[in-house]
Amino acid sequence: MKVRTDEFKARSAETTKNPRRQASLKLVYDGLHKGRIAAAEDTDDWEDQRDRARAIKWHTINNLDYYLDLLDKNVRANGGNVYFANDDAEARDYVLGVAKANNVKTVIKSKSMVSEEIGLNEAFEEAGINPVETDLGEYIIQLAKEAPYHLIAPAIHKTREEISDLIQEVAGGPRQEDPQDLTDTARALLRDEFRKAEMGVSGVNFAVAETGSIAIVTNEGNGRMVTSAPRVHVAIVGMEKLIPSMQDLSTMLRVLIRSATGQRISSYVTVVNGPRKAGEEDGPDEFHLVIVNNGRENLLKDAQLREAMLCLRCGACLNACPVYRKAGGHAYGWVYPGPIGAIVTPVMTGKKVGRDLPFASTLCGACKDACPVKIELPTLLLRLRSDLAEGKADPKEKSSPLLERVSIKAWRFGVQSPMRFALAGRLSSLMMAPLSRGGWVRWLPPPLSGWTKSREFPRIAGKPFRARFRKKQR
Ligand code: SF4
Repeated sequence: MKVRTDEFKARSAETTKNPRRQASLKLVYDGLHKGRIAAAEDTDDWEDQRDRARAIKWHTINNLDYYLDLLDKNVRANGGNVYFANDDAEARDYVLGVAKANNVKTVIKSKSMVSEEIGLNEAFEEAGINPVETDLGEYIIQLAKEAPYHLIAPAIHKTREEISDLIQEVAGGPRQEDPQDLTDTARALLRDEFRKAEMGVSGVNFAVAETGSIAIVTNEGNGRMVTSAPRVHVAIVGMEKLIPSMQDLSTMLRVLIRSATGQRISSYVTVVNGPRKAGEEDGPDEFHLVIVNNGRENLLKDAQLREAMLCLRCGACLNACPVYRKAGGHAYGWVYPGPIGAIVTPVMTGKKVGRDLPFASTLCGACKDACPVKIELPTLLLRLRSDLAEGKADPKEKSSPLLERVSIKAWRFGVQSPMRFALAGRLSSLMMAPLSRGGWVRWLPPPLSGWTKSREFPRIAGKPFRARFRKKQR
C-alpha cells in the first residue's frame, strides 16, 4: 500500500473544513470513546486486568523467538502450514501462490489490517482474482476504493447518503436510505459471494502459541463464515499478535473488546485450530498462517520503541485523541492512524516518509489513559520527535530549521547561569514592551510568529520572580 504520510498537513486541513467528516468524527467520541469508559467503569478489577494484559504482552514480546517457534510447531502439529514473510511482497506472493495452486477465482475476506498493509486486495485484482470484503465497514470502503478510516470502524466517516449511493451502484433497484434496508441488501449480495468463494482470508486478533490456534473477534459472524466455509483458509497475522496460552487469551479478550467497542464480549469469538480433522463436519481442507514482519523488527530492536509492539489494535487511543478526531483517519496516510499510527508508521515504513506524524499530537496523554495495555504513547512520540530533530532518523536532514536550533542553543546557554538567565529575562521584557498590551503580546516577529498565530504570549515580567521574592523577604 502506498505510504502518503508526507501529506498529513494538507489532508488534515481538508478534513477540518469538511462538516460531514467532522460530524462523523464526533461519533468516534460519543459512541466508541464513551462506550469504553462506561465498560471500564463497569468492570471492578479493570486496572488489574490492564496490568495483567500488559505483563502478558511484555513477556511475549521479550521472548518472541521462543513463542514464534512454539506457534510454528503447534500450527504444523494441527495440520496447518506456516509461512514467515519478511516484507509485504513476500506475504503477497505466498498468499497468491496458495490461491493459484487452488485455482481460486473468488476470495472472501474478514477484516484484516495486515492485509491492508501488504496491499493484498490490489494483488488479487492484478492476478484476476476477485477479493470480497465481508465485514460491512470494509465492504463499504472496498466499494468506495478507499483505505480504512479507523482501526475497528473502517467506514465511520461515510454518511448514510454516501453508503446508499455505493450500495445502489452494485445492487441496482430503488435507492435505499434506511440503515436496516442497506444492511439487508449488503447481506444478500455477500451471501452469494460466501457460497461461491474457494478461499477465505482472515486477520487474527490473537495467535496462541501453546495450542497453535488463532482467535478472531467479530460482531457480524463473517469471520466464522470466512474461516469455515471455503476449502482454503489463509490467516494473516502481524508478529506482535502472539500470546503464550489459552488462559492468557481470556484476559486479552476482556481488555480488547471493552476497549474497542465498549462491549463485555463481542457477538462472535472464533477460535480456529487448523484445517478440518477426520470426522469433523466444518472447516477448510487447507489452513495457512502467514506471520508478517514488514518493518516490525525496527520496533523490536529498539529497547524503547519496542513497547509499541504491545498494541492490540483496539482503536481506543484514536477515539481519545483530539488530533485524530479533527484530522481524520486518512490524513495519516497509511493503514494505522491515530497516536499508535503516528509511532508505528514512521518506524515500520522508514522515518523519512512519516516525519510529520510524531508531531501530530498535543501530548495531552489521553491516548495512554485509554490504552488497555498502558503503552507510553506520548513518551514514544517525544522520542521520535527527538530523533527527527537531532537528525538521528535521517542524518542528511534535520527536521527543525537552523534558526530554531540556534535559538534553542542560545536558550540553553542562557539558562545555564543565573546571571545570564536574569539578563536574558530583562532584555526580553524590554524588547516585548512595545509589542504588548495589558501584559499580553498579540504579535511576535518571525521566527517566533507561529506562537501568536492562534494565541497570545504573556509578556515576560520586567522584574524577575527571584528579585521580587527577595524584596518581599526583606
Ligand atoms: S496503542 Fe493501545 S489504545 Fe491504541 S490501538 Fe494499540 S492497544 Fe489500542
